[in-house]
Amino acid sequence: MDEQLNVAPCGYISLDDEGIIQEINETLLRLLGYHHQEIQGQHINLILPTASRSFYQLYFFPMIRMQNKVEEMYMVLKEKSGQEIPVLLNALRNERDGKVFNDCVCVPMKRRHEYEQALLAIKKETDARNRMKKKQIVELDLLRHELESKQKELLDLNEKLQQLADTDGLTGLKNRRYLHEQLTSYIALYAGRSQPLSLLLIDIDYFKNINDTFGHMMGDRVLQEFGRLLKEETRNNDIVARYGGEEFAMILPNTDRSEAMKIAERIRSHVEKANWGTPPITISIGVATNMSGDSGTVLQSKADRALYASKDRGRNRVTHAGELL
Ligand code: GH3
Ligand code: MG
Ligand code: MG
Repeated sequence: MDEQLNVAPCGYISLDDEGIIQEINETLLRLLGYHHQEIQGQHINLILPTASRSFYQLYFFPMIRMQNKVEEMYMVLKEKSGQEIPVLLNALRNERDGKVFNDCVCVPMKRRHEYEQALLAIKKETDARNRMKKKQIVELDLLRHELESKQKELLDLNEKLQQLADTDGLTGLKNRRYLHEQLTSYIALYAGRSQPLSLLLIDIDYFKNINDTFGHMMGDRVLQEFGRLLKEETRNNDIVARYGGEEFAMILPNTDRSEAMKIAERIRSHVEKANWGTPPITISIGVATNMSGDSGTVLQSKADRALYASKDRGRNRVTHAGELL
């Protein structure tokens, strides 16, 4: 054999039609771990694992006989030690001196096989990670939903609590705390503007008598009914609150003295005429209108003084703080 072919960087083996090894180069011998004399004249089966033997018989051999060549066939050879070596095989059917040779070259594919295995392992791991990621995304989504619904519950609860904290239990009107808060923020809002703001303090006259005559329960019912009447009297932006006991208050935004007095008078008159299931009920009202710079507390004490003036003057009447100056 040509020396260059003998040590070429690929295995070379030549077979006759019976599968008997006619020639084999040094490179392939070294790859398989055989000496030349151990292999020369042997059947190809010697270097094929059992599974490859039928492949050789059923596939390789008919193909080369039919097409005179085989290209890029993936085969597995067997070392002397029994170890299997995957190879890529090209073969040509040649005639020399009237005899047919099936000349094959083979390139070991061990590395490629390893790369493929590594790639396969990586793909498997990536798939597993992707599956895991999808699962985690679903779980995260569920958690996010749960969190959102909990947050909503919390917001609803806060709103309810806020409402409870702002509301008077008996009448369902706003309470004194809320009224004071709103008064302060209205005054801040109107600061520097020429918008008037009026405050009404309303006290039921001789309410103690109702309790004393008809009992506390009846007194409560009158207070509830009175709350409803006040609510009916309010316009969109007015705020009505129970100020304490039998005292009530109304904030009238954007309402000047004369408008506030008209509203107060209207309420007074409605109360006087209403049927309470008791002897007629009357109220006294103190009105104050914001003069520039008045704080909420000052406005309240002005309205309070006006209320007491109404009481002093005989009750069932309306007094504006401006009349007292
Ligand atoms: P005035 O005309 O001076 O305001 O006389 P008044 O009797 O209304 O005033 P006074 O302050 O002497 O009495 C207020 C009464 O209101 C006494 C109290 O028992 C009653 N009262 C306060 N809060 C409630 C309540 O929630 N329910 C009932 N039924 N009565 C209440
Ligand atoms: Mg009172
Ligand atoms: Mg009273």
